[in-house]
Amino acid sequence: MENWEKSLADSVTSPDQLSGLFRLPEGPLSAVTGRYPMRITPYYLGLIGAPGDAIWRQCVPDQAELEDRRQSPDPLDEERLSPVPGLIHRYPDRVVWIVSSACAVYCRFCMRKRGVGCSDMAPAPRQEALDYIASRPQIRDVILSGGDPLLLADDALDGILAALRKIPHVEIVRIGSRVPVTLPERITVKLARMLKRHHPLYINTHFNHPREITEQSARACARLADAGIVLGNQSVLLKGVNDDPLVMRNLMQRLLAIRVRPYYIHQMDLVQGTAHFRTKVAHGIAVMEGLRGHTSGLATPHYMIDLPGGKGKVEIPPGRVLREGSRLLLTNYLGEEIEYADPP
Ligand SMILES: *Cc1c(COP(=O)(O)O)cnc(C)c1O
Ligand code: SF4
Repeated sequence: MENWEKSLADSVTSPDQLSGLFRLPEGPLSAVTGRYPMRITPYYLGLIGAPGDAIWRQCVPDQAELEDRRQSPDPLDEERLSPVPGLIHRYPDRVVWIVSSACAVYCRFCMRKRGVGCSDMAPAPRQEALDYIASRPQIRDVILSGGDPLLLADDALDGILAALRKIPHVEIVRIGSRVPVTLPERITVKLARMLKRHHPLYINTHFNHPREITEQSARACARLADAGIVLGNQSVLLKGVNDDPLVMRNLMQRLLAIRVRPYYIHQMDLVQGTAHFRTKVAHGIAVMEGLRGHTSGLATPHYMIDLPGGKGKVEIPPGRVLREGSRLLLTNYLGEEIEYADPP
């Protein structure tokens, strides 16, 4: 058993185990974990400072998850857009391939909480997924997702990457993984060496709070970056976690310092069981205004809404543009309206 597998085995998976460590709020949390599984790795548990803090909110089950029934479990219509179960083909040139249904930590705000960690979200059957991709020359970008692809054994992931690399029209492969944040010991020298054989490879990780940037997570990211992997970050805007312009700015700047480029900040999807995390879009815009122009452009990701019904991601446009003939009125980071003459 590798070290990281031992960490997974030692993780907290029931509210009872947690109540030995913290005073838990009243209420039968086991009803919540009966519907939405729980797992907190020893490392991530160690990041909790106090009940209710930004780390706690992300990983400890909450009664509110069962109270939110208005929203759909699958608002993005991922299941309808899956020609092969577990292979989501929404945009012409790229697909999301669910290769694992397990995660190191089950995030309470997960957009795939309908099935992540449960048997009803099985990974796509490998040969069918490969055949689908191989027979469609327009697919040039394959995004391995889940669940967490880096919870697969090295050999299994190596096999998938090697098979994808044999398809000439697949130009890039991306991996979405929260393991650098929740189980940094998974990023072993052996894993990095294996990944390095499958370039061009991109990894988008998922830091949501500056306190998740530690010596261990920084080392995990450095190991991946040293293997030549381009690292991006996708955060989710979460009430009570990072819905504060200063917290977000701090997070983005510290990500750059560990060689991770902020890519997206996602508006919380309208997923059943996550209402207690949702912020208003106007608030998200305010958080973005705290970044844009006030810090490096590199520290400024795109603020995205993934439209319900599988209509795709759209960026909430930065700033305001007023057009008067060939004159543009642009609002800068200080809120000043500046006239700009667009060349005729
Ligand atoms: C988010 C997503 C992608 C990737 O979108 P990018 O904007 O290219 O990062 C691809 N397919 C699906 C189904 C997605 O949800
Ligand atoms: S790591 Fe990603 S897929 Fe897994 S529970 Fe968290 S948000 Fe969901």
